[in-house]
Amino acid sequence: MNMRCTKIVCIGQNYPAHAREMNSSPPSRPIIFLKPPSSLIGDGEVIEAPVELGRVDHEVELAIIMGKRTRRASVEDALSHVSGVAVLNDVTARDMQAAARRAGQPWALSKGLDTFAPMSAPVPLSSVEDVHELELELRVNGEVRQRGRTADMLFPPEQLIAYISSYMTLEEGDIIATGTPEGVSGLNDGDLVEASISGVGKVSNRVRRV
Ligand code: MG
Repeated sequence: MNMRCTKIVCIGQNYPAHAREMNSSPPSRPIIFLKPPSSLIGDGEVIEAPVELGRVDHEVELAIIMGKRTRRASVEDALSHVSGVAVLNDVTARDMQAAARRAGQPWALSKGLDTFAPMSAPVPLSSVEDVHELELELRVNGEVRQRGRTADMLFPPEQLIAYISSYMTLEEGDIIATGTPEGVSGLNDGDLVEASISGVGKVSNRVRRV
């Protein structure tokens, strides 16, 4: 995927029901990690998840695309810094992540493999009626695995932008993946993963596990 992007800033456990399924209590401030831009792929490309990784999960998320350099944005002003939104699948090597968490080590690698960030083509923020009232859905081979509403986010997009940009400059084209609702599950060879958000778009990818 050809996008100008210096980083993908991801939010962990931003939906209370997903925090519970990860055996965590909802965080009191956003949990931040990064995926490298090299993990991005587009609609129709293949998610390459080597079988030796063990369990690899899908996570449907609303992606926010920054429209300009942003440093210390206020909550009130934050959305004026956004150019677009998209659907992002935060693919996660779950066994690798769990092992890192148990050992108290960073879990960057489990999130950062090539092809682990499928994303739909962004649409302008102005084309979306209300970013706080979107419905997310993820299907595997046509079967619904995740369903959620952005209204259930612990920290909505404007709070995330203000929080992140108080520590880290966001550049034009940077992506914020705003967290996933409940229902994450493992992916098998040949699976077709379709992540969609009402009024935003859809990203469909076949999974290869060899
Ligand atoms: Mg995620």
